[in-house]
Amino acid sequence: MNRIGLNTYMLPIQSAASSKVLIDGQEYLMLGSYSYLGLITHPDIIQAGHEALDKYGTGAGGVRLLTGTTDLHHLLEKKIASFKRTEDALVLSSGYVTNMTVISTLFGKDDLVVIDKYDHQSIYDGCILSKADWKRFNHNDMDDLSRVLEENRENYKRVIVVVDGVYSMDGDIAPMPEIIEIAKQYDSSTMVDEAHSIGTVGPNGRGVDDYFDLEPGAVDIYMGTLSKAIPSIGGYIAAKKDVITYLKFTSNAFIFSAALPPVSTAVALKALEIIETDKERIKSLQKNYAKFINGVKEIGYDTLKSKDTPIVPVVIGDDVKTFRFAKQMKKEGILVPPIVFPAVPRDKGRLRCCVMATHTEEEIDYIIETMEKIGKNLKVI
Ligand code: PMP
Repeated sequence: MNRIGLNTYMLPIQSAASSKVLIDGQEYLMLGSYSYLGLITHPDIIQAGHEALDKYGTGAGGVRLLTGTTDLHHLLEKKIASFKRTEDALVLSSGYVTNMTVISTLFGKDDLVVIDKYDHQSIYDGCILSKADWKRFNHNDMDDLSRVLEENRENYKRVIVVVDGVYSMDGDIAPMPEIIEIAKQYDSSTMVDEAHSIGTVGPNGRGVDDYFDLEPGAVDIYMGTLSKAIPSIGGYIAAKKDVITYLKFTSNAFIFSAALPPVSTAVALKALEIIETDKERIKSLQKNYAKFINGVKEIGYDTLKSKDTPIVPVVIGDDVKTFRFAKQMKKEGILVPPIVFPAVPRDKGRLRCCVMATHTEEEIDYIIETMEKIGKNLKVI
């Protein structure tokens, strides 16, 4: 893509990753940030970061098990557990590492991990690292999930079904009530990766359990990231106390890797407090993604099965056309990442649009008008 001048990847941003960013001194509308709630520039969160930096310095100075745990880590874990309505929680240094270490630590020989075909790479890598067997079912296909469990359950001691809450390329939601029901039928447990659902779905932004109004603890293991709607870095697991305690003393990533820096911990903690109290922000996000998806559908785009989430794939088709589209969007002042094969099927190249709470109505209208103009030019719509 570089050779034909269509590369829009890794452009160095010279400002905060909010709904407007600077590149080469020029302002762009951002349509690809994971900071769904626009909290990256929230003054109270920045203040909490400053205070932690002043009090604790720049790093944790150790691994969690030994000397890297601060009182902030405890406060954050308590806050996550209460937000997710579980007995306990644990934070690790990234979402990626969290999936890898949790799956490979909790499941081993004689166990089976059943995953959705579209699960995140870190879940795949957790399976590869684990000594457990693993099998896939077709994306969000409940008959196929039942088939995999029916054919395999009796051959294993323990089985877990692992899904993404919101799928990062398609923007659709895992049907959690059915998944939980089917897993129960086959005496299996469940884990959900809430990287893109925490802070974005459900009336309170509490994620899939909020969206589907599930009972507390309906999912056995909630995993999430602190790097998206929560504007920091890190990953978490929220689950029963015995699961968390077991992970603290057996997970390699917890034992052998440096603790989350106190400043990142303080930022995540303050962000969760704001998500809990500022309901207007989640309402704005939900209003914005409904407006955006309706708008792009109305002008004729395929948005797959994305619904009720801030990730809206706008399907363009072949790879070159997708790159060309993204390049033309940039010319019009809009930054949106083109996603092509092998991240998605070959003919389903797309602009992966991420809507934010801080986009204004006028900005969303401008993005839709621009997509209409370019789409007609490139004969996509
Ligand atoms: N799970 C999903 C579904 C993700 O999309 C991502 C990151 N894009 C991760 C896990 C990893 O999270 P992090 O970037 O915080 O390591």
